[in-house]
Amino acid sequence: MKIIRTIKEMKEQLNNIKDHSIGFVPTMGYLHEGHLSLVNQARAENEIVVMSIFVNPLQFGPNEDFERYPRDEEHDTNAAKEAGVDLLFIPTVDIMYPEEMGIELKVSKGTNVLCGRSRPGHFDGVATVLTKFFHIVEPDKTYFGLKDAQQFSVVNTLISHLDFPIQLVGLPTVREEDGLAKSSRNVYLSEKEREEATVLYKSLKLGQQLIENGTKNSESIIKKVKEYISNGTDAKIDYVELLSYPTLNEIDSIDEQVIIAIAVHYKKARLIDNIILSPEGQQIDTITK
Ligand code: AMP
Repeated sequence: MKIIRTIKEMKEQLNNIKDHSIGFVPTMGYLHEGHLSLVNQARAENEIVVMSIFVNPLQFGPNEDFERYPRDEEHDTNAAKEAGVDLLFIPTVDIMYPEEMGIELKVSKGTNVLCGRSRPGHFDGVATVLTKFFHIVEPDKTYFGLKDAQQFSVVNTLISHLDFPIQLVGLPTVREEDGLAKSSRNVYLSEKEREEATVLYKSLKLGQQLIENGTKNSESIIKKVKEYISNGTDAKIDYVELLSYPTLNEIDSIDEQVIIAIAVHYKKARLIDNIILSPEGQQIDTITK
């Protein structure tokens, strides 16, 4: 595995392997099994696997955790190497943004809900950095976790509306044994919060069960999921929403593929989770575009 720190070096490396298929896994590092599951899939489907590790300041709001986002380059380098990454791109902020950006993307579809509403500008920052990465790496395929389902939907829009010749692969959320979605931010949780956080996935499974049992009314499902969360944890609910997926429209009745998505605030961590379901309540955990 080669560690690459500049765009020029990355371009030189890629020039040497022009005729190879490239799978690209963008991350913010502090790698866990969720990230590595994306590498596994990329490894199986491409000749070269490129991973980026970059905590992108553009996608953090002024009161968010950019400065204290967990970072551990030594751990990440070992984990990436073991998982089979060929080129590990770790640029600094100065490399990615040598001067203040004179142009930014604005994502207008699917951002008036969920994290788009709670984190204004977040997906604009995501789209901007991914556009840069897609131009630098020029991958054939790119791999994302459906844990960040709204991000997946936004990346789908970015790729299709800006004509990137890249296939988008969305993969299942990797969870701890007790169901909590793996996340770099889980390290912020106190012991008590960590125990309580199992309520998130359980509440999503409750939503699934309601749909499986024939409940069609989205309001009543949202209400029950919220109640379940409030009864199981002191965390403050940011949102519980039930929307069409991947279109992310508000719906009254479950007649198409949907997402139940939640975000809660613990003292130092904001956690998100979701479940994507067919109208009959069957879980969808992989999407290829
Ligand atoms: P992040 O480093 O949090 O920006 O995540 C980088 C990529 O890993 C994104 O595509 C995430 O959706 C994905 N990812 C994060 N957590 C998980 C997880 N628990 N399971 C699967 N994919 C994940």
